[in-house]
Amino acid sequence: MRIHLKSSAAALTTMILVAAAASLAQNLSKAEIKTVPVAGNVSMLTGAGGNIGVSVGEDGVLLIDDGCLQIVDRVKTAVAAFHPGPIRFALNTNWHTDHANGNELLARAGAVVIAHENSRRHMLSEQIYPEFGADAKVPPYPKEALPVITVGDALTLHFNGDEIRMVHVANAHSDGDLIFRFDKANVIHAGDIFFSSGFPFIHVSGGGTIAGMIKAQDFLLGMCDERTKVVPGHGPVSDRGGVRAFKDLLVAGRDRIANLIKSGKSLEEAIAAKPVEGLYKGGKSMISSDTFVKVVYGDLTGKYRKP
Ligand SMILES: [Zn+2]
Repeated sequence: MRIHLKSSAAALTTMILVAAAASLAQNLSKAEIKTVPVAGNVSMLTGAGGNIGVSVGEDGVLLIDDGCLQIVDRVKTAVAAFHPGPIRFALNTNWHTDHANGNELLARAGAVVIAHENSRRHMLSEQIYPEFGADAKVPPYPKEALPVITVGDALTLHFNGDEIRMVHVANAHSDGDLIFRFDKANVIHAGDIFFSSGFPFIHVSGGGTIAGMIKAQDFLLGMCDERTKVVPGHGPVSDRGGVRAFKDLLVAGRDRIANLIKSGKSLEEAIAAKPVEGLYKGGKSMISSDTFVKVVYGDLTGKYRKP
C-alpha cells in the first residue's frame, strides 16, 4: 500500500476510505477477485478495491479501474480466465489508489492509461486528506502509473465493437471523475460518483462536493434507460432505480446536515445528532454515516481546503 501514516487508527481510516474502500475486514493479501457478468462483453471484477469494469473482444481487453497494486496479478489472472489478452487500455474513474494503483504494472506490460486531466495532476504530487487528519498522506504515483492520455470534458473510444464514451462530471466525488458508458452493451461504469452500498465518500479536499454528487445523479439518470446496467465504484451492479434511490439518499442527507449547520451545531454536535441514521436501508453502509456527515458538513462549511 503506497500510504504513509503515523498512527494505526489513522492508517485504518485512510485504508478504508482512500485506498482500499473495499471493506474494513478485507485483507488485500488474501482478497479474492470475483467475476460478475454485467451485459454483453462487459463484466465486473470485485475484491480489488473499487469495482473493475472489463471489456473483452476481438480488439483485446480494456479495464475501467485497476484496483490496488498488491493484487494486480490476481486481476490479470481473473481476466486471463476468459480472455488471453493483451490488456490494451486501463481507464481510471478517478486517481485514488483503490481505482488507479494497478496502472503502474499494467502500463509496464503495455496498457495505455487514460484518466481525467485533473486526476493526472493529482497523481503528480503528494495527496493529503485533511478529512482524516494531517497524517493521512499518499505519495505521488510513479511515472509509469501516469495517464498518457487525459480527458477534458469527453472522449470516445471505439473498441471491441462498442462505443465507450468517457464523460467528466464536475466536482462530484472529486474534481477528476469520469463516467464511462458502453453504448452497445448499455452499461455505465460510474466510478465513485455512485455507491450502491450506502453512503459515499466525497473527497472534498480533492474538489468533491455534495451538490456536484447530486447533480451527477441527474446526469447519470439522463444516460440510463430501463435496461441500463450501472456499475458503481463500490457495491453490487445496479440500475436506474438504484441511482434514483442513491440520489434520494444524498438529497435527504444533505438537507438534514444543512439544517444542523443552520441551527448552529458544531461538527462534533452534528455527528453526535446522528442526522442520517436509518436513511440507508440496504444493510451496513460501506462508508459510515458519521464519515458521511463529517465530509458533507466540511463541504457545506468550507472546512476543507480545495485544490
Ligand atoms: Zn473508491
